[in-house]
Amino acid sequence: MTGDGCPICSKPADAKYAPFCSRRCADVDLSRWLKGSYAIPGKPAGEEDENTRENGPKSAENDES
Ligand SMILES: [Zn+2]
Repeated sequence: MTGDGCPICSKPADAKYAPFCSRRCADVDLSRWLKGSYAIPGKPAGEEDENTRENGPKSAENDES
């Protein structure tokens, strides 16, 4: 991390939520942290994540029998 901006959106941090700019960003970071640490099994994937990229909507192209 560099500077004193929000690590999520790079806006100036709010002392109340430092180092984040808002509770929302603090929340985002927290959920990321929790996911990475506990990797809750059986959780419906799809909303906010980083893995959906690999499973893009291109499975139809590999439809050979
Ligand atoms: Zn922010």
